[in-house]
Amino acid sequence: MTIYKEIQAQADTMRWWRQTLHQHPETAFEETQTAAFIAEKLISFGLDVHQGLGITGVVASLSQGDSTKKIALRADMDALFITEKNQFSYKSQNQGKMHACGHDGHSAMLLGAAKYCAEHGDFNGTVYFIFQPAEEGRAGARQMIEDGLFELFPADCVFGLHNFPDIPAGHFAIKPGAMMAAFDCFEITLSGHATHAAMPHLGNDVLVAAAQLITSLQSIVSRNVNPADAAVLSITQIHGGNTWNAIPHSVFIRGTFRCFNKEVQALLESRIKQISQATADSFDLSAKIAINPENPGYPVTYNTQKETDIATKVAQTLVGVEQVNLQPIPSMGSEDFSFMLQEKPGCYIWLGNGSSNGDCLLHNPNYDFNDEILTVGASYWVRLVESILR
Ligand SMILES: [Zn+2]
Ligand SMILES: [Zn+2]
Repeated sequence: MTIYKEIQAQADTMRWWRQTLHQHPETAFEETQTAAFIAEKLISFGLDVHQGLGITGVVASLSQGDSTKKIALRADMDALFITEKNQFSYKSQNQGKMHACGHDGHSAMLLGAAKYCAEHGDFNGTVYFIFQPAEEGRAGARQMIEDGLFELFPADCVFGLHNFPDIPAGHFAIKPGAMMAAFDCFEITLSGHATHAAMPHLGNDVLVAAAQLITSLQSIVSRNVNPADAAVLSITQIHGGNTWNAIPHSVFIRGTFRCFNKEVQALLESRIKQISQATADSFDLSAKIAINPENPGYPVTYNTQKETDIATKVAQTLVGVEQVNLQPIPSMGSEDFSFMLQEKPGCYIWLGNGSSNGDCLLHNPNYDFNDEILTVGASYWVRLVESILR
């Protein structure tokens, strides 16, 4: 492990930033205190700071030398609607909200890198430090791009990092191509005529139809998708009826589907619509089907070869070749950093958070970011800057 001594020296400061952010979690597009905290630090390091991009996003620029090369590094800032179960001193003070995905750690690491680059950075060019809102389901990255992120900050390439429980602490995992899946949601409402439970023939039974529909939807991945392609479709909500002796007039179903390419994504969407409509028809019901009714879906997180090679070398130099897994299994989870990777070449890497001990998993009420990896993440960023901006 080759951590710069100046980064090691700021380990306690980064830990304090991380735990302060952890204590005050804010959710999508409401990260005002978080953004103010981050902006204040960046300004104190002497960076040019732009606030309010993508509602609550913050971007800081740092230029040095005469090169026109520009690199963007991105951290996410938002928390989740989860009630924390941890009891440590810095547990969430915002009821029902929690940093259960480690974005507190991501922000602290990027702040640490910004501080080092401002004070000691050995590079020639420009670094953009992006602190984005609303990664969790609300596509904050897309919002920043729509608000002019890459026109205001025209980076040549962009890099992201996410902690990953059950990868050993301080190890990395990285690969070119698809790293995380595309993600879409759907809603189906089946409607008919309510009736007495004892007289089903006088109405249409939406609940029997829903049961059949859920089973039929499971055949899409197993029977329509090429077995060599990965895909998953999960039903996650079903609501209908409110008593024992009446069949309701409607039932509402929600779910999600994920895969690694556009063809499979289009196939899943069209089969969901077909099967839902056909099932509704067969029960003499009407069907209302909506894909991504509330928020945009996320594209595949796709790492470009050249930038992945650079990031791989940086990680290997930092922690050793054996500590970098070059063949991780892509995750069916997704990431809105994918929107940035649609605009710019770049790479997304996983940094091990250490053993989960069963419940220190992402989006778990017992999760906590591992402060021991703050210096590794900050060092990765700094070395990436120094490798590319030469
Ligand atoms: Zn998350
Ligand atoms: Zn996350």
